[in-house]
Amino acid sequence: MKKTLLAGVALAMTMACAPAIARDYVIHAGHLIDGINPGERSQVSIVVHDDQITAVQDGFVTPAGAEVIDLSQGTVMPGLIDAHVHLTLDLTKGNALLQSVTHSSYDETLDGVGNARLTLLAGFTSVRDVGGDTAVVVALKRAQKAGTIAGPRMWVSGSILSPTGGHGDPANGFDPALTKPGWQDGIVDGPDEAVKKVREHFRDGVDLIKIVPSGGVASVGDDPQAQLMTDAEIKAVVDTAHTLHLPVAAHAHGAQAIDHASAIGVDSIEHGSFATSTSYAIMKQHGTYLVPTLIAGATVVEFAQKHPELLGPSMAEKAMAVGPIMAKNLYAAWKAGVKIAFGTDAGVYHHGQNGREFELMVKAGMPVADVLRSSFVGAANLIGESRIGAIRPGAFADIVATDRDPMADITELQRVRFVMQGGRVVKDHGEPRI
Ligand SMILES: [Zn+2]
Repeated sequence: MKKTLLAGVALAMTMACAPAIARDYVIHAGHLIDGINPGERSQVSIVVHDDQITAVQDGFVTPAGAEVIDLSQGTVMPGLIDAHVHLTLDLTKGNALLQSVTHSSYDETLDGVGNARLTLLAGFTSVRDVGGDTAVVVALKRAQKAGTIAGPRMWVSGSILSPTGGHGDPANGFDPALTKPGWQDGIVDGPDEAVKKVREHFRDGVDLIKIVPSGGVASVGDDPQAQLMTDAEIKAVVDTAHTLHLPVAAHAHGAQAIDHASAIGVDSIEHGSFATSTSYAIMKQHGTYLVPTLIAGATVVEFAQKHPELLGPSMAEKAMAVGPIMAKNLYAAWKAGVKIAFGTDAGVYHHGQNGREFELMVKAGMPVADVLRSSFVGAANLIGESRIGAIRPGAFADIVATDRDPMADITELQRVRFVMQGGRVVKDHGEPRI
């Protein structure tokens, strides 16, 4: 009985999510932010065939056989891109330490399916998942690609590579006698282990490597200011990963970890809280992206004040030290000319609220056009996929729309009304179609 029910659910999911039969659409866009040119265009037609945009034309035209999607009252943009999410995690659900020993990888998988859907419905058609059980996130990515589940296109790092006792060591804070299968998957001590772990991750299907050169906030005991991976370990990761054409994302709060990781050649600094003017100079010289994750900063401060019981030992104190500084850092980095890639740390806050990051970035002092660019251009370049983040012929038909213009009111991006992904309408008039 149970088996039949499950099979039925699986069949329904497959039918609901299977890619639509090839179909031609033309979108009549009242305003268009194309993700390429500065400014906006009015009254533009976007022609979609299968999963791609085939033409972008001035005026409202209707090619023979194309179904019209009338967004003539709205503002149309490329699908949003978030370069820092954790689809399988949700720290808002309760104490993180407790969750890590009461939640199985099956729970994480099913949570990931739900969170992927929420993220897509929020208008995010592409994400980088920078930390989760390798087998689980690789499976999610494959299921999305196959059309089995609805979610953003995914580029995944699998488990975070961390030194013993560092930000990515799941055993932190537990009785040393305790262990769990998988807890050692990301632990690297010494360059040789780092090389091996990168190769194993590559074999297991990841698209990038995530390392934690500094301590972090949502972990027990490690110091966000300290550089906890050695330069030799970071270099071993970067050299091996780049040989395998995998970019490297480095979680780093303290200045030394930011400076060293950037100089060694990581592709992005995640968070970057305590960066200095020297850090910005090094990042510019090496073309390193900053992924600011302001919602994470704001959320951990909120937790520390309202729900310290959800945080493990030492986390509340660290949150108060790190959280408030992140917005200041973003403004300073932008002013210094550091490349910015939009990223939010979804999973630290509720999935599907990624759009809040745009508002926080504008509040931090970044101009709206540059904030939008950080998602369409910054995150797309960091991911390394030229067919996302732009409305142009040859790009994926990943297209969203808001009722009002986000250039005038950035909070509109928290109310995305229309979402098309790969030529398939997944949300229309604010209503999910998946
Ligand atoms: Zn994160």
